[in-house]
Parts: sequence; C-alpha cells; structure tokens
Amino acid sequence: AAKEAGRNQLALFDRELRAKRLETARTVERLRGAIDRDELLVYYQPLIRLADERITGVEALIRWQPAGERMIPPDRFIGAAEDSGLIVPIGAWVLQESCRVAAGWHRRHGTVVSVNVSPRQLREPDFGAMVLDALRSSALPPEALILEITEGVLVNSGVATEQAISHLSMVRSHGVRVAIDDFGTGYSSLAYLRDLPIDHIKIDRSFMPAPGVTDPASRNLVKAIIDLAAGLELSVIAEGVETAEQVTLLRELGCERAQGFYFSRPVPEADADTLIAEDHHGTVRA
Ligand code: C2E
Ligand code: MG
Ligand code: MG
Ligand code: MG
Repeated sequence: AAKEAGRNQLALFDRELRAKRLETARTVERLRGAIDRDELLVYYQPLIRLADERITGVEALIRWQPAGERMIPPDRFIGAAEDSGLIVPIGAWVLQESCRVAAGWHRRHGTVVSVNVSPRQLREPDFGAMVLDALRSSALPPEALILEITEGVLVNSGVATEQAISHLSMVRSHGVRVAIDDFGTGYSSLAYLRDLPIDHIKIDRSFMPAPGVTDPASRNLVKAIIDLAAGLELSVIAEGVETAEQVTLLRELGCERAQGFYFSRPVPEADADTLIAEDHHGTVRA
C-alpha cells in the first residue's frame, strides 16, 4: 500500500509538473506578441524622502493588459519571460518607456526613476549599450536612472558574476546608479556589499514590522540593516511601508527614503504625473 501511495504521489507530481510546463508555454506564447500588440504598460510608484515626505523618484513596474482581460501582475509572467528569454526585449522596452516618461518629470521636478533589471538581461553582451541607448534617445541624464537588481544577479553560489559586474560598472561610470532590490532575502554573503558596484539598498518589505508588532527584535533587525548600509556609505530605501508606525520607526532609525502603499500604490503614468506635479506645486526646483 505504501508503495502504491508512493506511485500515486509520483504520478500526481508528474501531472502537476506537466500542467505547470504547459501553463508556462502558453504564457510565453501569449507574451511573445504582447509588445507589438501594445499590451504592456508601466505603472509608477513614488519613492518618498522621509525628512520632508517629498517624492524624489518613482519605481517603474511592468503590467500586462491583454485586450478584454484583467490586468496581469508581473509575478505571474516575469518568471516565464526570464525562462524564455523574452525578458530581454521586454526589459529593453520597459527601460525605453520609463526613461522617456521620466525625462519630462526629471526636467520639471528633478524626479529620478528606478527600473528593475532581471539577471537574464545582464547576461546579454550588449546590456550596457542598451542602457546608454535608452538614455540617449530619451534625453534622460544618467544620474536620473537607478537600475534595481537582486542579490542573485551578482552573487551566484558565493561567487560574484563577472559579466554582471562589468556591465554595472560600465553604466555606473556614466553616472547611472545601482540599487540592490529586496535586500536581505537573497544570498547570505555580505562581503559583496563591500566589493560590488552599488549605490543603494532597498530593504525588503518582509522586514517591516507587522502592524502592532513592537518587539525589539523586529526593530533591531531594521536598525541593523540601516546601520550596515550607513557604514558602507550606501543609501537606504525601505520597501513595503504600509503604516504610520512603520514611517515613524524608519524615521527614528535614520532611514532616508521609503516606498509603499502608505504613500501610494503603483499608479498609471497619468496619475503619477498628477502626484508628482502636486507634490511640487508652488515650489521651485532646487
Ligand atoms: P519589486 O521590484 O520588489 O517591486 C516592489 C513590489 O512591491 C511591487 O509589486 C509593488 O507593487 C509592491 N509594493 C509596493 N509597496 C507595497 C506595500 O506597501 N505593500 C505590499 N504588499 N506591496 C507593495 P509588483 O508591481 O507586483 O512587482 C512585483 C515584482 O515584479 C517586482 O518586485 C519586480 O521584482 C518584478 N518586476 C516588476 N516590473 C518589472 C520589470 O519591468 N522588469 C523586471 N525584470 N521585473 C519586474
Ligand atoms: Mg524593484
Ligand atoms: Mg523590491
Ligand atoms: Mg520584490
């Protein structure tokens, strides 16, 4: 009986695996024409400077809107896009589009834009040229662009990926900045923080103390990350900030900037435009 149960278990596993593969293949097929059909769009979420609660930047976040369907969030298709290599043209499109849109915001208000880059994109030999091209054609200054990468991009089983590092060093030499996204959720080695070409770290939202949680451990963990970053002269952005208590805590701990539903959800371009313009209403660009 145990043997049979084991066999059934295996058959089930096999069926699930095949269903999953099929689903991925179907996603890839539909995604293939998505750029040409104009089904991809970029939402923008404000990044807030805690000292004065002003919008200093936005993060570009991709959305997929197939005609007549509900909008599909990135978590449902980025994986398939990476596996199939489609993330390369899609990522290039996101960068072009968000640089173009952000160029106006930057000109008027000094706003910077953060764009997510997947590990797969950094394996392309012409990654650097692609980034410089997006900057040139949008006239966005390199200093107004931040590339967000996850720890896994740079550190693979403890060894930093040479190609990724050389791409990032190249764009950085032009003035583009680099942020480690979802900091604290990836690999355990901290040495890379000292050695790699990075400027910012974004504390993953899993570190934000849940509402009502006041235990010292949660607080100390956030504090430790902020202090670590300060010691390395990296600026810190807290992700996933949802409550006023979290804002108070982050301010007390000296966190520079934050991003989260408490301030604003990611919104379409037109809404972001309004948020940024209102934020700067009556003030002269410094
Ligand atoms: P991420 O880069 O860490 O982006 C932050 C995610 O957290 C976004 O989800 C955002 O909507 C969500 N978020 C922001 N504030 C809060 C909050 O207060 N509470 C909660 N619960 N969530 C918050 P989104 O837009 O669904 O994107 C998910 C992930 O998909 C991104 O995580 C990023 O890894 C990936 N992604 C999005 N756009 C792109 C892209 O253009 N290229 C690539 N390669 N990946 C992308
Ligand atoms: Mg990000
Ligand atoms: Mg993140
Ligand atoms: Mg994330």
